[in-house]
Amino acid sequence: MTNTSSALPTFTGPVFRPGTAGYDDEVAGFQTAYTHRPDLVVGAAHAEDVRAAVEYAARHDLPVAVHSTGHGLSVAADGGVLISTRRMTDLGVDPGTRTARVGAGIRAGALIDAAVPHGLAPLNGSSLSVGVAGYHLGGGVGILARTFGYAADHVRAVELVTADGRLRRLVPGDPLFGAVLGSGGNLGVVTALELELLPIATVYGGQLTFDTPLVEPALEGWRLWTQDLPEELTSAITLMTMPDVPAIPEPMRGRYLATIAVAYAGSAEDGERLVAPLREIGPRLHDELRSMPYAQTHGIHRDPDFPHAYTASNALLSELPADAAQAFLDTTGPGATVPVVAGFRHLGGALRRRGPAGVAVDHREAEYVARFITMPEGDGTAVRDRHELIGKALSPWTIGRHLNFLYGAGDWAGEEQTRTGYDPGTYERLAALKAQHDPANLFRHNRNIHPAA
Ligand SMILES: Cc1cc2nc3c(=O)[nH]c(=O)nc-3n(C[C@H](O)[C@H](O)[C@H](O)COP(=O)(O)OP(=O)(O)OC[C@H]3O[C@@H](n4cnc5c(N)ncnc54)[C@H](O)[C@@H]3O)c2cc1C
Repeated sequence: MTNTSSALPTFTGPVFRPGTAGYDDEVAGFQTAYTHRPDLVVGAAHAEDVRAAVEYAARHDLPVAVHSTGHGLSVAADGGVLISTRRMTDLGVDPGTRTARVGAGIRAGALIDAAVPHGLAPLNGSSLSVGVAGYHLGGGVGILARTFGYAADHVRAVELVTADGRLRRLVPGDPLFGAVLGSGGNLGVVTALELELLPIATVYGGQLTFDTPLVEPALEGWRLWTQDLPEELTSAITLMTMPDVPAIPEPMRGRYLATIAVAYAGSAEDGERLVAPLREIGPRLHDELRSMPYAQTHGIHRDPDFPHAYTASNALLSELPADAAQAFLDTTGPGATVPVVAGFRHLGGALRRRGPAGVAVDHREAEYVARFITMPEGDGTAVRDRHELIGKALSPWTIGRHLNFLYGAGDWAGEEQTRTGYDPGTYERLAALKAQHDPANLFRHNRNIHPAA
């Protein structure tokens, strides 16, 4: 255990130590397979608490981990200081400039709730419970990603505490600004973000679900359909065997299904016309495509909203030919030795375009991302082997990985995996900035970028 008792600063928020009341609740998160076990948790109430915690950790040479919701925990802290941001819930919307200033503890759902009364929407992802800061630090693939690009490209300012204990406000043009966005907390602790909001009041979309005999035709139909779509349309397909439990409605319970999620930033009439080829695939178990207010768009992906254990990898693909789709089906389908929640998101469109701010999100030429999610099982060998098999099957088309869609700690978060998120030049740029701003690697409980030698 590290010595964290000497000269503790006075914090506005609470502090917790192992064995004290509230510690276990404070370190618990959405990911239940791994948990931070720091020697000290600072329940930061505002930026000054974060600044004081970082300064204290630096003075005592203690690693700093950051915990918001726990959706993206990658390296679980074992000792050191954990900064818990959940109390940092400042949130202001300025309809005049179409921006929001968002504290580090805000989740996507709260930001949507604050934006929609003004006829505005953020570039959130598929789940309401994901933290806004963590999402943007990994790039942020939104439900309308093909229309607007990475959410990180729409950040106007970053408020960040660096390892020297300074609170800085970064804007485009500062070398740290773009580097922070995409490098997942390696360069400091974000205390707030200023984000662009978009004038979107309604979205056409929802889900189409196909039963077992139509899973292969649905994947093939979706694959062909995505090859000629406007940027206004973003979609994904998920292939999975539904749990055989009463909570799942009877026609779907225990069945291997294909579900297509659609989000279109245009009129319902155009949306109906664009999705017509999907309906021609065959009868749907479920077909709920419709125009909906932005506040209801979380129903488009229906991510699980309860904490659970998961590990996941992904492959960014330059293209999705029939061979690649078949290889994916063969390695992830019901015959797989461990259950896999498998799927593709359609990328391309505005995601290809790089903004001027040097945001550290690469592989922008990817047209699809294949995602494979599993539950941790036994000693992990079967899961690990399955992931290797899937990765190998997709390797002819793989150009890298997207770091927001890697889940799991330990060897799920090694240097090799982190490097696959970046072009070599970007990784070198980030490692050089890390050497300049965090030479002691204080911020190492993350997908770590090692300071350049
Ligand atoms: C159900 C689900 C749905 C998702 N959907 C999408 C999606 O549609 N698109 C997408 O792009 N991603 C998606 N993600 C991935 C998600 O964006 C990442 O896992 C992200 O890291 C989660 O951030 P968090 O703050 O919620 O989680 P946390 O686990 O609390 O944080 C993850 C990591 O981010 C860093 N971090 C968080 N806050 C700060 C901060 N203030 N300062 C510095 N570092 C910080 C830390 O390294 C921390 O370990 C999804 C994840 C899940 C589990």
